[in-house]
Amino acid sequence: MGSLVDRYDALFIDLDGVVYRGDRPVAGAVKALPEVRGRGARILFLTNNSSRTPEDVAGKLEGLGIAARPEEVLTSGVAMASMLGREGWRGRTAFVIGERGIREALEHVGIRILDGEAGRADLVVVGWDRSVDYPKLRTAALLVQRGARLVATNADASYPAPDGLWPGAGAILAAVTTTTGATPTVVGKPARPLFEEAAELTGATHPLMIGDRLDTDVSGAYGAGWDSLLVFTGASQPSDLLRAEHVPTYVGDDLSAVLRDPPPARFRPAGPTDVPDIRALLESAGLSAAGVERRLDQTVVCPGRAEGADGEVVATACLQQIEEFGILRSVAVHEDHRGLGLGILAVAAAVVTARDRGLSHVSLFTERAAGFFEKLGFRRSDRADLPEPVRSSEHAAEECAASATPMTLTL
Ligand SMILES: [Mg+2]
Repeated sequence: MGSLVDRYDALFIDLDGVVYRGDRPVAGAVKALPEVRGRGARILFLTNNSSRTPEDVAGKLEGLGIAARPEEVLTSGVAMASMLGREGWRGRTAFVIGERGIREALEHVGIRILDGEAGRADLVVVGWDRSVDYPKLRTAALLVQRGARLVATNADASYPAPDGLWPGAGAILAAVTTTTGATPTVVGKPARPLFEEAAELTGATHPLMIGDRLDTDVSGAYGAGWDSLLVFTGASQPSDLLRAEHVPTYVGDDLSAVLRDPPPARFRPAGPTDVPDIRALLESAGLSAAGVERRLDQTVVCPGRAEGADGEVVATACLQQIEEFGILRSVAVHEDHRGLGLGILAVAAAVVTARDRGLSHVSLFTERAAGFFEKLGFRRSDRADLPEPVRSSEHAAEECAASATPMTLTL
C-alpha cells in the first residue's frame, strides 16, 4: 500500500507539538516513527528552539523512547551557524544572547563569542535565553547601533510551557529591535534559512514538512514551495484552518497520518468538464446535485492523483454567495478517500473563497454532519436567527429538509 512516506524524498518533522509536548511524548508519533523508518523514509527533525544542541535533542528523544541520531536533528542554532559559515563570517566575532545550543554551534563554525560588555562585535545573535537580563539587552542594542549585524535564531513570540506562555526568542529579539529599529535576519520557521539548510543537509528536492503550526510549519513550507502535513497534536486545531493564510496539503490527527495515502488537497475552481464528477460525488454522498452547473463559478474541486494529467475529481465544496452572505453547501469526498482529512480541507478551500470575496458570515444546513462542522468552528443556530437573505434562499427554503441543522460561522 502506498503512503505519504513513499511520495516524498524526505520528511522534515517539527518536534514540539508533533513528537512531544514539553517533556511528554505524543503517543501516536512514538508508535508511528519506527514504521516510518521501516519504510525507508529520510527523516530530519526541525526545531526553532536553539537552546539545546542536536546531541541534547537526540538524547531527549531517546529518553522518550524515540530512536534519533544527532545528525537527524536540525536546530535553528545549527542552521544559523551553517548559514553564517557559508556567508564567510568564520573568524569574526559575535555577541550572543542565547543558551548552549547556539553558542556551541557558532563556535563550531569558527565564530568567536564575546561575553560581558563588548565594545564592538561583527554580529549580534539573539536566541532563546532563560537568563537574559538588562545588561545583555543593553549591550546587544549598543552593538547593533555601532554596526553589528543582527541575526535571530527564530522570532517565536512565546514558548509554550506547562503553566502557560513564557517569553520566546521573538520577545527577547523585540527588545533589541524596538530599541534600535534594526531589521534582523531570522533563521527559524517560517523564515527560509532553516528550510534551506534542511534541504542542503538531506539533498531533498521534494520534501514533506510535518508540523503542528499553521503560522510557522505550514506557512514556511508554502513559502519554500513544499507540501505540508498539519497534525492536530499541538498548537493549531481544525477550526484554525478556516482563518489560515495558507492551508496545508494534508491534515492528520497525529504523525501516523504519514502512513496513510490521502490525495494531496490541491483545490482549484471547478470548470464545465468537472460537472459529471461533481454530480457523482454529491450523489454518492447522498446530497442533491440539482443545479450544479449554475454554481460552478462558486465551486472548488480537488483532482485526484493521475500522472501527467488531472485525475477525476475526488472532493468538492461550494460557497454560494447570496448578497453579502455565504452559504457553504455540497461538501463531498470520494468514498475511497474518506476519513483522510480531505473533507476538512475542502471546507477550508471553500471558506478561503468566501474570505477572498470579502464575506464575513457563512451559513450551512446539515442533516448528519453537525459534529464535523462544529469541529471546524461552525455553531448550531436557529433558522430564525439566520440572516434574512439566507433564510429565504432557495437552498434554505426548498432544498434543505426542515430537519437539517442550521449552522453559522463568522470569519
Ligand atoms: Mg511545533
